[in-house]
Amino acid sequence: MKLSKYNAYRTLKNKDILIYNTLSGGLFILPKEHAQLINNLEKEKNKKREIEYIAKLTAEKYIIDDEIDELEIIKYQYLLSQYDKDNLNLTICPTMACNMKCIYCYQDKKPKIMNDDIRRKILTYVKSNIKRIKELNISWFGGEPLLAFDTISYLSKSFIKLCEKYNVKYNAYIISNGYLLNNETIDNFKKLKINGIQITLDGPKEIHDKKRILNNGNGTYDKILENIILLRDKKFNVNIRINIDKNNYKYIYELADELNSKKIKGLSISLGHLQASTEACKSISSSCFTVGEYLLNQHDILKNINKKYPKLFKKSILISEKQSIYCGAVKINSYAIDAEGYMYKCWNDIGNKNKSIYRIDNTEDNIMNLVNYLNFNPFKYQDCNNCVALPICVGGCPYNNLRNEKIKCTRYNDLIEKYLDSVQDNYKI
Ligand code: SF4
Ligand code: SF4
Repeated sequence: MKLSKYNAYRTLKNKDILIYNTLSGGLFILPKEHAQLINNLEKEKNKKREIEYIAKLTAEKYIIDDEIDELEIIKYQYLLSQYDKDNLNLTICPTMACNMKCIYCYQDKKPKIMNDDIRRKILTYVKSNIKRIKELNISWFGGEPLLAFDTISYLSKSFIKLCEKYNVKYNAYIISNGYLLNNETIDNFKKLKINGIQITLDGPKEIHDKKRILNNGNGTYDKILENIILLRDKKFNVNIRINIDKNNYKYIYELADELNSKKIKGLSISLGHLQASTEACKSISSSCFTVGEYLLNQHDILKNINKKYPKLFKKSILISEKQSIYCGAVKINSYAIDAEGYMYKCWNDIGNKNKSIYRIDNTEDNIMNLVNYLNFNPFKYQDCNNCVALPICVGGCPYNNLRNEKIKCTRYNDLIEKYLDSVQDNYKI
């Protein structure tokens, strides 16, 4: 037997050992009398007084059999997920136009609306795949997708019909700036089986209205908040996304105060990492956090909000759970489609035709843009192979690392230290 290589340890003030296993997500407190098990398992394992704890640690996979190679299992699960063909995941941008011009928007927005021809071709593409899949997952994205609601409506109805006919599970979600919502749209969401929405608020009114403005320069906070209340009243599943950078991260608590004072409860929140990923948003690069800085700040913000307002939002998790793969860009059956029918692997590439992999009508293709993502291999990096955070990080964002000889590390391992601090606080040790 041996210790899992995905155990992270923390000696608590009373000298008990806190163990967190990134592969199982489990937490364990090993009483200090048994701490030698960690320091010298080989020597301790035959001692009678350790039998009970060895059994417990083995049952929860903190201790594993000698022949188990956890890294090989992670690699296997990565491949399974990468080449899983049961799900078809499509992010569809019915338009690249937007009613807002957020200062950090990475999209080079051309006011393109999807035409009938592209809509039909998307439907043909789904039809040609439907018999071999078990689940169709659609994310509506843009531009602002609500500017092309007729496309969402037409395609949703067609997808739902197809899925019913072939007994395929259907899921749909929308990412919107939330400004154009109204009663009727929300009722239509339900009819079109769109079962959740992500809306961005970048801080309290004063901060949000500096970043997220209409094309005429006016702020959007009041209207978006009004619409969030509408969604809440209609019991619609809402995730508030807060994009953080060096300018606004300190103000997120004020947003929580504001939502609390207006009794806007029961929503979930997630933080987003602002990055200057494309030419279109290069100007904001100096105010962006590095990935590592972002993760640490994200942890602190969510922890403090959970603590101050335990019932305001659905409980936010402080550290990712184990995942087989970091994102859909490296999966064989996940694509983003822009309003002109160009298909991409990564959301950051949407709208940049040089990065597209096919056109939905097969008129153009660039196989290398596909191969580059599918061949992204986090296991070629020795740092990742030796890292305790691998099960939750899996090498991080492929877009950031596609051409890197050395991994641009997310510093998830630093986050683990923070997480153990939080757990320690919670245990009041
Ligand atoms: S590769 Fe990175 S930027 Fe692209 S969709 Fe995945 S996580 Fe996002
Ligand atoms: S990117 Fe960094 S934190 Fe993530 S698995 Fe690789 S070495 Fe670990």
